Amino acid sequence: MRTVLIAGAGIAGPALAFWLKAAGFEPTLVERADGLRRGGYVIDFWGLGYDIAERMGLITEINRLGYRVRETRIVDDAGRRIAGFGTRVFSELTGGRYVTLQRSDLSRLLFEKASGGVDTIFGDEIVALDELPDAVRVELKRAGERRFDLVIGADGLHSSVRALAFGPQSRFEKKLGYVVAAFEIGGFRPRDENVYLIHGQPGRMVGRFALRHDRTLFLLVFAAQDAQLPATRAAQEAMLREVFGAARWDCPRMLGELARADELYVDRVSQIRMPGWSRGRIALIGDAAFCVSLLAGQGSALAMISAYVLAGELAAARGDYRQAFLQYEARLRSYIDAKQRGAERFASAFAPKTQAGLLLRNLVIKAFAIPGLAKLAVGRDIADRVELPQYSWPLLDQLLAA
Ligand SMILES: Cc1cc2nc3c(=O)[nH]c(=O)nc-3n(C[C@H](O)[C@H](O)[C@H](O)COP(=O)(O)OP(=O)(O)OC[C@H]3O[C@@H](n4cnc5c(N)ncnc54)[C@H](O)[C@@H]3O)c2cc1C
Repeated sequence: MRTVLIAGAGIAGPALAFWLKAAGFEPTLVERADGLRRGGYVIDFWGLGYDIAERMGLITEINRLGYRVRETRIVDDAGRRIAGFGTRVFSELTGGRYVTLQRSDLSRLLFEKASGGVDTIFGDEIVALDELPDAVRVELKRAGERRFDLVIGADGLHSSVRALAFGPQSRFEKKLGYVVAAFEIGGFRPRDENVYLIHGQPGRMVGRFALRHDRTLFLLVFAAQDAQLPATRAAQEAMLREVFGAARWDCPRMLGELARADELYVDRVSQIRMPGWSRGRIALIGDAAFCVSLLAGQGSALAMISAYVLAGELAAARGDYRQAFLQYEARLRSYIDAKQRGAERFASAFAPKTQAGLLLRNLVIKAFAIPGLAKLAVGRDIADRVELPQYSWPLLDQLLAA
């Protein structure tokens, strides 16, 4: 049992390829896009994900590319500060092992670390899966039929591997009642370096963050029950103009620049909740298995943790993939369940749907300025309540030296 096809080269996929190689497997990556996804949004990164990145020799580079956010600041229509909190508390809670970076930078670093010697197929995807007694027969849209010992879906919230092997997304998707959009534009003023600015109206929230190279990231979230997402870029822009058209602060200028953005990310804010993460020779990791949503602020780290544990268990099980898949799930299930519940609780506070809810949210954020209180409030959700198991990685030193 050596060959593993991994669908998806986001965060979980390249991390799994790396650790499988370290264990002596032969991973192949297939990514639907023609290259790695660029731009997008920024992620907060800490905890066990940070520890794994360190074991992969990536921390210096991650910190070089990352941002040290000083403050999250809520502003009014005129851009004046209503409330906010210093983010030092996160640093304190994590012993300084906390950084904000672009998801695409993390994805690229993981991919570069993993990809030497890994067969990577861009611009292709699995369209059929057929489990045989001794292998999985896979049909790729362009490359045709191939066989692998195992197939792992690391293909995100809208996983095709999950749809093919476990059933339609609607059976596993828990919608949290929001739509999120993100895009970058160049030359926007003002910049407010290392401050995350948030402007809220009932049921709507816009965040602005200054990136390097004179780029500015906008993150838009709005409440929408059971939203059907428009498929085309033009329709997505029209939707955002309609929802945020009357909003004040930087919103009119932001919407004026929207058409200039190279990429526009739009999706529902959802979780994936499955009764089991594997079936036969096929398993899921990362968002494909258990998307916690952006409201957990930790999905990338969890994607990396699941990759590390799955690879470790496959190595430890010496060919008994059933045992490995069971152990992988047993180690992470309750930890992930707790992260999902935390994100669900946070959902109602994220973009409050009423004026009173907004006021309450701002009051709570003001209270964060009281020393100690923020630690109490966020400490529980920020903590990682599992320990990374130790596995043996016969080829790790070789990979790190490469
Ligand atoms: C706005 C926003 C903010 C977030 N903030 C944070 C944060 O602060 N901290 C944090 O840790 N996480 C955050 N997250 C979550 C984090 O981005 C995800 O949890 C993480 O990217 C999951 O990694 P993944 O590899 O499982 O999936 P993805 O990163 O989604 O990667 C999946 C990959 O699979 C590819 N793919 C899709 N379908 C197919 C297919 N059929 N065949 C082949 N390839 C396919 C995709 O192109 C993509 O490259 C945030 C998410 C959002 C949307």
